[in-house]
Amino acid sequence: MTTVSVEGPVRTCVGCRARDAKPALLRVVVIDGVLTADPAGRLPGRGASVHPDPACVDLADRRRAFPRALRVDGPLDVEPLRKHLQTRPPNREQVEKRT
Ligand SMILES: [Zn+2]
Repeated sequence: MTTVSVEGPVRTCVGCRARDAKPALLRVVVIDGVLTADPAGRLPGRGASVHPDPACVDLADRRRAFPRALRVDGPLDVEPLRKHLQTRPPNREQVEKRT
């Protein structure tokens, strides 16, 4: 039995641990000790993937999945990520293209 619903690269959400297509997940990186959303996927360094969903961010926070996935010492504040999700207009992602 083969699954054909997901094509291309697949990542695992560090929150709910579900596998999903890479574009469906938000890449996050750590810059100067701060969790930073990388919606364009262009920032350098080790990244972690999480659903752009506050529930998944909370889950990852509680499980301390971000420091583990990103190989950093100490806890990471997920507040920047929460803010990022709050300011994201629902259902209108990728309408604007910035180059
Ligand atoms: Zn998730």
